[in-house]
Amino acid sequence: TDIFADRRNSQGVNLNINSQHHAFMDKVKSFYGKTWTVGSIVNGKTLTSGTKHQVSMPQNKSVTVGHIHWANESQAKDAINIAHAAFPVWSRTTVESRALMLEKLADLLEQHSHELIALCNMEAGKTLQDGIDEVREAVDFCRYYAQQGRALFAYEGPLPGPTGERNELFNVGKGVFACISPWNFPLAIFLGQIAAALVTGNTVVAKPAEQTGIIAYRTVELALEAGIPADVLHLLPGGGDVGAALSQDPRVIGVCFTGSTQTAKRINMALAEKDGPISTLIAETGGQNAMIVDSTALPEQVVRDVIASAFTSAGQRCSALRVLYVQEDIADRIIELLQGAMKEMVVGDPLDYQTDVGPVIDAAAQQSLNEHIARIRKEGKLIATVPVDESVMASGTFVQPTAVEITSIDQLEKEHFGPILHVIRFKAKHLNDVIDNINATGFGLTLGIHSRNESLAMSIADLVNVGNVYINRNQVGAVVGVQPFGGQGLSGTGPKAGGPHYLTRFITEKTRSNNI
Ligand code: GLU
Repeated sequence: TDIFADRRNSQGVNLNINSQHHAFMDKVKSFYGKTWTVGSIVNGKTLTSGTKHQVSMPQNKSVTVGHIHWANESQAKDAINIAHAAFPVWSRTTVESRALMLEKLADLLEQHSHELIALCNMEAGKTLQDGIDEVREAVDFCRYYAQQGRALFAYEGPLPGPTGERNELFNVGKGVFACISPWNFPLAIFLGQIAAALVTGNTVVAKPAEQTGIIAYRTVELALEAGIPADVLHLLPGGGDVGAALSQDPRVIGVCFTGSTQTAKRINMALAEKDGPISTLIAETGGQNAMIVDSTALPEQVVRDVIASAFTSAGQRCSALRVLYVQEDIADRIIELLQGAMKEMVVGDPLDYQTDVGPVIDAAAQQSLNEHIARIRKEGKLIATVPVDESVMASGTFVQPTAVEITSIDQLEKEHFGPILHVIRFKAKHLNDVIDNINATGFGLTLGIHSRNESLAMSIADLVNVGNVYINRNQVGAVVGVQPFGGQGLSGTGPKAGGPHYLTRFITEKTRSNNI
C-alpha cells in the first residue's frame, strides 16, 4: 500500500475572512506581555547559569521579550555525554515509536500555534502570515519525516543470496547529531533538522541561532511533552562558540546545518580535522538567486511574483530573489509596474494585517543592508524605494525595500539577506551569457523563470545549475513534500529538506548474512 497516499500538508488560517482574522488575532495577542526567561535544556532540566542576554522585539526595541542564558562549555560537554550515552537505547527503539512521537509533536504544535506565531512575531519580527506559514511548515516536517522514516526503515529485509543463507539490510542511526539552525526559520528549520535526526534513531544536541533562543526553548519543551526522552534531545542556545564546540567534539558524528556558506565550510574543516570517525555534514546555505523574464512573459504576473520573491519576509529567505534579468523589450514596462507596486507596499509593525514588510532581524543586519543600498544606488540607477514612517523607522530595525537597476550580477559581491532587488536588462541574443553569469556565481539555490515559450523555459531550467526552479510563479515558500528544498555548489550539500532522500544522510547501513 502507498503510505503517502493520504499525506496532507497542514492547513493555515485565512486572514482574509474577517471573522477568522479577529478571533485569530485575539488569541495571538493573548501571548504578549509575558517576559520569558530561558536557558539550555540538558537532560530535561532548564539551566540558567550561563551568561544572560536580553531579547527585544526587532520591530520595537523598547519591548523586552525576555532573557536567554546562553550555554557554556560545561553544559555543552554534559549534553554531548548524555546524548552519547542515550544513543544505544534510542537507536534500538522502533521507527514506529519514534514516528508516533513526531506525529504527537505535530499535533501539539497545532494546538499551541497561536503562542508560537506570537513568539515568531516577538522574537524574529515575523509578519502574521509568515508566522502562520512557519508553524505549518514545522508541522509538515514532523509528519513528513515520520512517514519517510517508516518508509526508509521498511526497506530493511531479505536480499537475494545463496540458498540457505539469509541476507538482510538494516538502517541504523549514526550517533549524536548537532543541529545548528538559523534565525530566519526559528521554528520550521530548527525543528525540521531535529525531527529528521530523531526519527532515524540519532540523538540530538540542538543549537538555535543566538537571535531566536526563546522560540527554540518553547519548541524543545513541546518535543519533550510529546514523549521524546529527556536524554535524547538537548538544547544549547548561544553563539558560534557553542556551534564550534559541538563540531569539534569527536562524539558528534554528524552536523545538520543551515546558515552561511562560510560557516558551513568552517564546520566542514572542524569535522575533518578532529579525532574520531569521519563525520557527516548536511548543509543548506546561501544563494544569489535570479529570475529570468523573456519578452513573452505577462508583465502583471511577473511583477506580482517578483514582489513576493524579493520582499516576502523582508527578503530574509535564502530562496529570495536578488537579481531580476529582464529582456530589454519589456524592461521599461516591468520597471514601471514594479514602481507602481512598490508604491503600494506597507512597511511597519509585522503584527498589523496591512503590513507587507516587517523589520530585519537586528541592527547588524540593518547596517550591512543599508551600506549595500548606499553603494549600489551610487553604482546603479534607483528604480524605487519604499518610504517608511519616521516613527516606525525609529522604533525598530527596519530597512527600506529598494530596487536598483545595475549591469552585472558581480556588482552584488556577496549575498545581501534583505529587501533589496537588483534588476538587469538583457538582449535576447545574450541569454546564454545571462545563464553563464548566474552559474559563475557558484551559488545554486533557486531560479525563477517567466515566459510563455515552454521550450525556452525548459531549456533555461535545464542549463542553470540550481536546486529549485519555479516557472511562472514566485520562487519562495517551498512546501514540504511538494518542492523539496535545497541547492548545490555554494548553496549546500543536499539532500533536500522536505524531500524523499533527506533522511538517507542521517543513517548508516548494516547487512547481516545469517547461516544459522
Ligand atoms: N524553504 C524556504 C523557502 O522556500 C527558504 C529556507 C531558508 O531561507 O533557509 O522560501
